[in-house]
Amino acid sequence: MSEPTLFTRIINRDIPADIVYEDDHCIAIKDIAPKAPVHLLVIPKKPIPRLVDAAEEDKALLGHLMLAAGEIARQSGVGDAFRLIANNGADAGQTVFHLHFHILGDKQFSEAQLGF
Ligand code: 5GP
Repeated sequence: MSEPTLFTRIINRDIPADIVYEDDHCIAIKDIAPKAPVHLLVIPKKPIPRLVDAAEEDKALLGHLMLAAGEIARQSGVGDAFRLIANNGADAGQTVFHLHFHILGDKQFSEAQLGF
């Protein structure tokens, strides 16, 4: 058995995190090193390493994550002004190999501020 990922350990409450949302399929936490005034991570409970590792059987899960991301962003107070980003692969800046989507937002953010 492979080691649980950092995010699986957070999902299992083995490592503390600021959890802002949870349902049967995903969790959302505050990023430990925020790059915007609102920086959340939407993480499926299934530990798919990268977006490109998702398969046909994950279609419903990926749809669920998108709908959850919209709801989580609304709940976070950023309204309609947010970005949803998945870094795929180390060369694109992925550091945790358990699929996750960044929600980055602020009421008045700019490209420079987000650093992406
Ligand atoms: P990636 O670079 O893989 O796209 O994003 C990983 C994100 O996870 C980074 O923005 C990083 O700050 C965040 N992160 C890494 N370790 C932890 C942690 O232990 N707790 C939380 N809440 N976020 C983390």
